Amino acid sequence: MDDCLFCKILKGEIPSDKVFENDHVIGFKDIQPLAKEHYLFIHRNHSKNVNEMSRDDMAQVFDAIKEFTQSNELENNGFRVVSNINQHGCQSVFHTHFHVLGGEQLKGFGS
Ligand code: 5GP
Ligand code: ZN
Repeated sequence: MDDCLFCKILKGEIPSDKVFENDHVIGFKDIQPLAKEHYLFIHRNHSKNVNEMSRDDMAQVFDAIKEFTQSNELENNGFRVVSNINQHGCQSVFHTHFHVLGGEQLKGFGS
């Protein structure tokens, strides 16, 4: 997708601070972190949101998140995975992405 911001990041046309990379998935730091650690994990295949993402691609993204979080303190201390979808979900970039937040005590929902 030529006009997709995250496809441009995948192609290296826009710089990113990568923390994970394999044949299927990349993980990089969010430019406006909402927690001490805030990463975005995306599949190399473009899809608009999780409802449009294939089951295989989703599994590969979650395998990547698992591998990444097991390789550092996130796994031990805990973390949060979020994917915002469309308007009510406040999605702003329409290439499916999973926020991985942690590195500090997060607020619970409703607290
Ligand atoms: P959404 O609002 O769609 O769930 O999440 C989009 C995320 O992408 C936001 O947290 C925003 O800070 C991040 N973001 C937007 N533009 C860029 C960029 O150019 N580079 C990086 N690394 N993150 C970005
Ligand atoms: Zn894209």
